[in-house]
Amino acid sequence: MLNKPKKMIVANWKMNVTSQKDAEGLFLSIRNVVSKLEYTQMICCPPHMYVNQVAQHANHKNYRVGGQDAYPEESGSRTGETSVLMMKNAGAEYVILGHSERRHLETKLDISRKVIAVLEHEMTPIICIGEESRDKNWKKVLQQQVKDVFNRVPKKNPENIILAYEPIWAISSDKKNPATSTEYMEALEVIKKESQKIFKTAKAVEKIRFLYGGSLDDKNIEDFLKNANVDGFLVGRVSHDPRILMTMFRLVEDHVQKELFSISE
Ligand code: PEP
Repeated sequence: MLNKPKKMIVANWKMNVTSQKDAEGLFLSIRNVVSKLEYTQMICCPPHMYVNQVAQHANHKNYRVGGQDAYPEESGSRTGETSVLMMKNAGAEYVILGHSERRHLETKLDISRKVIAVLEHEMTPIICIGEESRDKNWKKVLQQQVKDVFNRVPKKNPENIILAYEPIWAISSDKKNPATSTEYMEALEVIKKESQKIFKTAKAVEKIRFLYGGSLDDKNIEDFLKNANVDGFLVGRVSHDPRILMTMFRLVEDHVQKELFSISE
């Protein structure tokens, strides 16, 4: 695909799959469709307990496995934690970090330590940022979040970093209030400008992959595909609905195919 990485859909199952049987069943129901795609990839992020089991079925480049968080130290007296090393040994290649549903449990320093640890273990962090509301300070809030996550992070391999813009006002279920592609592009501009100050060159920032997440489904994904510069999506609510998810994969795949076709004409 003209050397571009595949578009990705990150399926964050959160705490919504509650048995090994369900985790396996859900993954297998999506897997066959995803394995046939040419331009699209799924990163499945089950609850920690099921990462290993799902990873055993993730034997294809189109579907990989991620954790929903990880503790930055490898081992030690940390009751209830799952370390980055444990996550890696369980088969995860990605780790969602800084999700807004966890931010009350961790400081920005914790998040940046986790990002560094994930990179050191040769996994890919999927770092979530996003403002709480579009008030008069929203750009400043976002700029600060970019600084907080990137300042301490090694700058040499930006292609190993994924940043998900997830405005808190747009996330999840009952509110169903997604951002529009225009709002995403406004935020992306702020994020890229601030990242460039830290990574020094526009070229480095172009290597980071940027995702959108927040009440996304098969009804609104086309707005982003058609009108936004987006490398993929992070989905929560619909991530355990195989029917909706498969429609979304199909829409992404068709869009990329059309785009490539129009370039080659
Ligand atoms: C999320 O919580 O990361 C998320 C994108 O959730 P939802 O799709 O339900 O808004």
